[in-house]
Amino acid sequence: MTSATSPHAFWLAGRQATGEDTLEVTSPWDGRTVGTVSVPTSAQVEEAVAAAASVAAEFAATPAYVRAAALDHVVRRLGERADEIARLISAENGKPMKWARVEVARCSSVFRWAADEARRFNGGTAQRLDADAGGTGRLALTRRIPHGPVLGIAPFNFPLNLCAHKVAPAIAAGAPIILKPAPATPLSGLMLGELLAETDLPAGAFSVLPVPNEAMPDLVQDERLPVISFTGSVPVGWSIRDSVPRKRVTLELGGNGAAVVLADYSSDADLDWAAQRIATFSNYQGGQSCISVQRAVVDDAVYDRFVPRLIAAVEALVTGDPADEATDVGPLVSEEAARRVESWVDEATGAGAKVLTGGRREGAAYAPTVLEDLPAHTRLAQDEVFGPVMALIRAGSEEEAFAAANDSQFGLQAGVFTHDVQAAFRAHRALEVGGVIIGDVPSYRADQMPYGGVKASGVGREGVRFAMEDYTYERVMVLTGL
Ligand code: NAD
Repeated sequence: MTSATSPHAFWLAGRQATGEDTLEVTSPWDGRTVGTVSVPTSAQVEEAVAAAASVAAEFAATPAYVRAAALDHVVRRLGERADEIARLISAENGKPMKWARVEVARCSSVFRWAADEARRFNGGTAQRLDADAGGTGRLALTRRIPHGPVLGIAPFNFPLNLCAHKVAPAIAAGAPIILKPAPATPLSGLMLGELLAETDLPAGAFSVLPVPNEAMPDLVQDERLPVISFTGSVPVGWSIRDSVPRKRVTLELGGNGAAVVLADYSSDADLDWAAQRIATFSNYQGGQSCISVQRAVVDDAVYDRFVPRLIAAVEALVTGDPADEATDVGPLVSEEAARRVESWVDEATGAGAKVLTGGRREGAAYAPTVLEDLPAHTRLAQDEVFGPVMALIRAGSEEEAFAAANDSQFGLQAGVFTHDVQAAFRAHRALEVGGVIIGDVPSYRADQMPYGGVKASGVGREGVRFAMEDYTYERVMVLTGL
């Protein structure tokens, strides 16, 4: 461990190292310094890449039980240190403690699932090829081979778990990983490095490097890193993919998620549940989640009964100090981010939108906000707000509701509140997204399921097994004379 006065070391090929420069991590809530992090020099980044490349073949051949044991170790340690790690996430990100605890639990689940997948991810079974005469006496079998070291790039909003989504499948698949955490929240990723360093993984199997953004293009271009798994903003993500057309690139980018409430979802209990879920998941993490609810599309038949319930649920959310266990909504990641959200809301109200609740900023905190009558040309209508702001849209029919949900450059996930199984299938067919969640908000994600977007929201899929498939390829062997 690093002492209170010296900067946090980073993890270079499995061991601690420090560079020449440092990065200050501050609390979005009160501006206090949470930690100082050492930044690797370009020579140290080169050392980490060279180590990852040189260990790649050895790591790919490491028995599954060894990789699974390392992943199980992380699960155990996350459990033992859960409280401390949740406090770290909350401090550097401004996330309320209740959500930081959820994030630690989710991270455990990612590693647990990865340990299971490591044990069963073993390629295909043998196939006879004698359906054609030329295949007589031949047998084909496959193994999944890692492409090579993975470069995992993570954003600030789930500083631990989005690192886990890169790291755990790589280790499970036997691919070395270089993890680059976000500059605002590097401490959680470095903590993951600390837990991995306690395992028997070979040196070079992982590095956690808070590389400055200016140095990232060189790392992205490095041919020794054939796989890039990026979670972050739309422009950065697509520019990475455009710059390395021959690499395997997964992009998990932004969204402006829609929750659709259909006419059949009409009992008091239905509308209470929908309002509660939409209020919570348009504001959790201060709205800084790619699958938070930015738009509620509500059928005309239930609109007037839904809206007062939604407003009451939004106003019941406790805002304030993220360290307080009662807080539901903390600050945004910075005052600059809150000012941007404020300017988008101002633009919308200037263009005729009505604020039903919220619409206030205090430092880095923005009040949970609901708007109505949002004009289509505004940034709030077109872009990802990444703040605790949502718009209500009234729809005259199911068709109109699905069309409104699809009226977006993004396509990550959508939620549809209905009890009608036929309507659920129609939604699944009609909605242009990577995932349709029936009976709940778009914000649901589990590690067994494929997760990712279409349209501007990205390409490729996460979910542990799907990421492992992305990090590897099938190599076939044909046996002759059998
Ligand atoms: P960002 O794009 O600013 O940064 C993401 C990461 O990319 C950071 O580690 C950053 O340092 C790095 N980076 C910046 N410039 C780079 C470059 N030129 N080359 C390589 N890496 C570079 O995103 P952010 O503000 O940290 O995160 C918010 C965004 O992430 C939102 O758009 C959100 O929707 C998206 N997100 C998507 C998902 C998903 O699963 N689809 C999940 C969480 C967040």
